[in-house]
Amino acid sequence: MRDFSYLRAASADAARQAAALPGAMLLAGGTTVIDLAKCGVAEPDMLVDITHLKGLDRIEVDERGATIGALARMGHAADHAGIKSRFPAISEALWQAASAQIRNMATIGGNLMQRTRCPYFRDPANFRACNKRQPGSGCSAIGGVTRGHAVLGTSDACIAMYPGDLAVALIAFDATVHLGDRRIPVDDFFLLPGSTPDREHPIEPGEMITAIEIPGFAAARRSTYLKIRDRQSYEFAAASAAVGIEFEADGRTIRDLRVALGGVATKPWRARAVEDVLKGKALEPDAVRAASRLAVDGAVDHGANHYKIELAPRVVARAILKLGETA
Ligand code: FAD
Ligand code: SF4
Repeated sequence: MRDFSYLRAASADAARQAAALPGAMLLAGGTTVIDLAKCGVAEPDMLVDITHLKGLDRIEVDERGATIGALARMGHAADHAGIKSRFPAISEALWQAASAQIRNMATIGGNLMQRTRCPYFRDPANFRACNKRQPGSGCSAIGGVTRGHAVLGTSDACIAMYPGDLAVALIAFDATVHLGDRRIPVDDFFLLPGSTPDREHPIEPGEMITAIEIPGFAAARRSTYLKIRDRQSYEFAAASAAVGIEFEADGRTIRDLRVALGGVATKPWRARAVEDVLKGKALEPDAVRAASRLAVDGAVDHGANHYKIELAPRVVARAILKLGETA
């Protein structure tokens, strides 16, 4: 790991100014940025520590929704009484992410900015070709080992899977990322790789995530996050689904449905086709299973990741039916 300087920012404005300098990176919990520096993917000249900045760790929840400060720890947000009761999918997504130690260090803002786990991306010493790391160098994953790669939202330049859990739940409930005064819907905060996989977010140098805001939809209140992975903890998703549902007064007809997928796409993936087909219908297991297949419309596999195309609709259907059981 190469040497870098360390700055403890005195204020949010000072952090933004310092982070705008070439070679500077923000340091929050450090659970991603230090790993990336160690493996040579990130080569910061300066880390700008923001962990102690006042007010950015606040979590506020009421009937209109929730605002979670960028410096709130993942573990704190997962365990927050208001998040657990009004946004169970968000609490569950956080609980199932990483390990207890990491959740106690890692922040909400850092979580949104985490990078792909594509092994070729994280091994510059052995794999030179990676368009995300080095634009125009090619993609070592295409034609390589692809079991953990994406089947949705891919391009000829990059098939890296978006690994996070929280953002999947956020996208289902139309959350917004606050960059100070600028607001970006979470869906727009994550960019498809296209021909520029190195550009992952529409965030400019010197901009900093300050909070996320989640509207208080009824469907968020009856929601869940189902994560299927190779082992039951400390593992990224093979496929996951954040689902929220609101029923009409009859308790069976679906008034509102939210479905988003993780572990299968290059960004957190909203499955609107599933939502549109099921809204207004009674919750019926066969109809749910058939509609859930729409979640992977347009999916393209690269051999070893084909199983995700089979798995993802089952995860979606199981999550929807589980919520139906509690109606
Ligand atoms: P840092 O490492 O401090 O920063 C990460 C990046 O975000 C850096 O580029 C930094 O400059 C930038 N940044 C930080 N804060 C801000 C801000 N406010 N505004 C703009 N940019 C900012 N995640 C999951 O979702 N699910 C998992 O199952 C999971 N498993 C994991 C397993 C392991 C072994 C590890 C190491 C990580 C895992 N993670 C998982 C990822 C983990 O959640 C992230 O490492 C963590 O959330 C990053 O937060 P941080 O505060 O430590 O960020
Ligand atoms: Fe790089 Fe993307 Fe190819 Fe992985 S899939 S090697 S991140 S270009």
